[in-house]
Amino acid sequence: MQFARTPAARARVRAISVSPHMNKMTITSIALATVLTLAACNSQHSSTTSQTQDSGQTASRHVEFVADSAFAFLKAQCDMGPRVPGTAAHSACVAYITDKLTQWTDTVVTQSAPVTTFDGQTLTAHNIMGRINPQATTRILLLAHYDCRPWADKDEDPAKQRQPVMGANDAASGVAVILELARIMSNNKPDIGIDMLMVDAEDWGDYDNEDSWALGTQLWARNHKQLLGQDYAPTFGILLDMVGARGARFAPEYFSTQYAAGIVQLVWDTAHEAGYGAFFTQDGGGAVTDDHVVINTIAAVPCIDIIDMRGDGFFDGWHTTHDTIDAIDPATLKAVGQTLSQLIYNY
Ligand SMILES: [Zn+2]
Repeated sequence: MQFARTPAARARVRAISVSPHMNKMTITSIALATVLTLAACNSQHSSTTSQTQDSGQTASRHVEFVADSAFAFLKAQCDMGPRVPGTAAHSACVAYITDKLTQWTDTVVTQSAPVTTFDGQTLTAHNIMGRINPQATTRILLLAHYDCRPWADKDEDPAKQRQPVMGANDAASGVAVILELARIMSNNKPDIGIDMLMVDAEDWGDYDNEDSWALGTQLWARNHKQLLGQDYAPTFGILLDMVGARGARFAPEYFSTQYAAGIVQLVWDTAHEAGYGAFFTQDGGGAVTDDHVVINTIAAVPCIDIIDMRGDGFFDGWHTTHDTIDAIDPATLKAVGQTLSQLIYNY
């Protein structure tokens, strides 16, 4: 992702065009998932859940998001190496995500098709979605990209700018939070539907070309009704990007507020109620070209971006060789994950 710096750039993003060569799409698997602990599924009284009375009026359901578990999912991705499209590490990550979602969700839908990068490479993009309660009409779409940028071109050392980015924060962190949510939901099924979408080829972009980013999400957005049915219409979406760094600050992002102000309000209110107001600040963030823009403009699903913005930039390690596990703080994963747990179980 990158900052969209000018109003003109913002307008271009809204007018993203459709490329017909991206229409080839296949459903490669619709698989079952295993609900391992049926008894726990129907219980709100397992060791990880509780209900509390709030003002004697509404019951708030609490399901614990385990930060150490999310951190383990993040580390597992980093242990593969940089997940750059076309590499063995990337293939391993596809298999890993597919395996976890197959374990923990009701249905897994995958989509694979060629996409063309700004520098003329043809990649096979693989998008992977795990679905919980696929029949439910009230649904939240959670998404994160899992691919890593091929070049650490923001590194302060020119000698390292052609090296790949490890992507502990950008974006193993988003995948890790969503996988932990999938795990806890397999034990404590929510009432609503949840679609967890891991998208490919977000970060092989050119800073001067807004449409060159989010290629996997463009593919999904153009074909999602063919994949999921003409009546598929999630209530809203939440993108997670760079949600694991030490000292993270999540400010309302420009496009999120333009397209889905009510969802921004809901998430930020939920974070404050859950005790994570220090992470979710109210001061305005910048405009970011990211997967959520495509979800809004092409898929027509209102979608926000929870993204770490600091001043007029991202976290220090953004698109450098310093985006490693050393930059990660499990407390940040917890703040985002627990906020989303509270939202999911009380929506
Ligand atoms: Zn990036």
